[in-house]
Amino acid sequence: MTAMQAARRTLSDVFGYDSFRPGQESVVSAILSGRDVMAVMPTGAGKSMCYQIPALVLEGITLVVSPLISLMRDQVSSLLQNGVRAAYLNSSLTSRQYMLALDNAKRGVYKIIYVAPERLLTRSFLDFAMQADIAQVVVDEAHCVSQWGQDFRPGYLDIAPFIAQLPRRPRVSAFTATATESVKKDIMRLLELRQPYAVTTGFDRPNLFFEVRREGNRDLALLRFLKEQQGKSGIVYCGTRKGVEEVTGMLVQNRIDAVGYHAGMGDEERMSAQEDFVSDRAPVIVATNAFGMGIDKSNVSFVVHYNMPKDLESYYQEAGRAGRDGEDAVCCLLYQPSDVHLNTFLIDHAQENMQLDAETQKIVTDRAKERLKQMTYYATTSGCLRTKILSYFGETPENPRCGNCSGCMTAAQERDVTREAGRIVACVLALGGKYGKALTAKVLAGSQSERIRERQLDKLTVFGSLKAEGEENIRLMIDELIIDEVLELTDGQYPLLKAGPRAREALLGDEPIRMTIAHRDAAPAPRLRVTAKPNVDKALLKRLNRLRRSIAEEQHVPPFIIFTNATIRDMAVKCPRTRAQMLCVDGVGERKMDRYGDMFLRVIREYLEE
Ligand code: ADP
Ligand code: ZN
Repeated sequence: MTAMQAARRTLSDVFGYDSFRPGQESVVSAILSGRDVMAVMPTGAGKSMCYQIPALVLEGITLVVSPLISLMRDQVSSLLQNGVRAAYLNSSLTSRQYMLALDNAKRGVYKIIYVAPERLLTRSFLDFAMQADIAQVVVDEAHCVSQWGQDFRPGYLDIAPFIAQLPRRPRVSAFTATATESVKKDIMRLLELRQPYAVTTGFDRPNLFFEVRREGNRDLALLRFLKEQQGKSGIVYCGTRKGVEEVTGMLVQNRIDAVGYHAGMGDEERMSAQEDFVSDRAPVIVATNAFGMGIDKSNVSFVVHYNMPKDLESYYQEAGRAGRDGEDAVCCLLYQPSDVHLNTFLIDHAQENMQLDAETQKIVTDRAKERLKQMTYYATTSGCLRTKILSYFGETPENPRCGNCSGCMTAAQERDVTREAGRIVACVLALGGKYGKALTAKVLAGSQSERIRERQLDKLTVFGSLKAEGEENIRLMIDELIIDEVLELTDGQYPLLKAGPRAREALLGDEPIRMTIAHRDAAPAPRLRVTAKPNVDKALLKRLNRLRRSIAEEQHVPPFIIFTNATIRDMAVKCPRTRAQMLCVDGVGERKMDRYGDMFLRVIREYLEE
């Protein structure tokens, strides 16, 4: 079996997935062949699979340097659930626990070890590392090594010296979700990557709907938004701790189960807020941007920014925490001009405590202001929001209008169709009220159908007068004109189209007519959904979720660690009745089959027998 075959086997047997996602396969293959890797992949793209699979295929240990305790904990519990021996080494362990874990590591108990960067150069850790067979060092959130990035973490500078001390240099792979060219260069230089295989996978997250709301009162805008999202779970980001407290209070007063989360709270209170959110007990968490990274949960259906963040890097990273399970999700930014002033103030005062020389300080400030300007363009543009984001990250989308953001939706709303309406009325008059909607649209679109030629309708001057519009749009306009009483439909089995009371006005074009019809040239390309959503049995889904929740509570882990939402949903669609069928569900590997398969099969069986 080749290494890649082993990798595919691991993907399906251990993790329960049929196929690699875009970008994953080439990274896995590069790592297996011994190369260094520099991978820029958006949140939710599936970075962990890229290094966890090689970790299991390769002889030896994989070390993963990660900046956050909560991320490490979740990764390790997920791995353990899948039967992979893994551990983390960070400051959340007591020194006894730490020594014990290190002892285990020395004895080769773990395949994957997550470690905080600050540990790397400590005596005890080096002692272990010098003797261990380390096959791979992974640097997660690699942008933390760059001072130009938004999350500089000095401990990351220890990574290269650490690797240099190892008796045999392992392959080194760096992963990040946000990297502009300069940050990417910094990562490769500071981590001393050797001719890395560099890959940047598409930044687009097709399942996210982007929107900006510029209503005068943020609280009302937020309440309205949350009402639309009722029953779903999501994050509300605020710019300040005080904001978190105020917004949480406001939501609770309005009977929304929200919990607050910020660094100024006591550890216990903060942990319990996070627990409530992650375990789905509180559907809404209000948090500061700075501590958002610690919240990791895959079924986040929306992310609202109560304030505009300082740059698109932060915004896209935070907003990108929605929909990581691949389900449709909404990212909403509430914008007010005062956001710009506040951010400018923060930039002007941020560098004071970094003790930079005057020249460097000016560069840093200028860059930050430029980033803020781009963020502000995003918040105020009337164009496509997705295009704005993607082009900021250096991508050129095929279609400049995505059709899945508030920019595209309002563009469709603001269309003046006075001229088109006039032509439609002229056509209806020319047809003498003898035909229905469909044929009228065909005549206007200049369609070459039998019926039209037979009746010589193609000889009329109105024939093809709205050719550029297309039949579909014409039919939509006719519907609108009926509502507006410009046209009327007769009663009966085959309703015919005739002029309505306001037809004359439309024909003269005195009053402008506006409609929510897309511009022909601006019409979004038909969006290829990755998966057409199959019908889910909602009642079954509910039971499966209940079972998942009770298992999760018993084990004191978040529900998505047992199975992700996407897996539960797939189960409700496939409705497996046998172990073999259960293994075909996305996200059910052999280990999880052994642990939970029968319980879930029983619930399905009981459900089907009722
Ligand atoms: P990232 O670290 O890039 O934000 P994760 O590694 O957390 O993303 O993966 C996001 C989600 O996608 C997880 O639930 C993961 O199990 C799932 N996933 C990853 N790879 C695949 C795959 N090849 N097929 C199906 N689901 C996958
Ligand atoms: Zn768009």
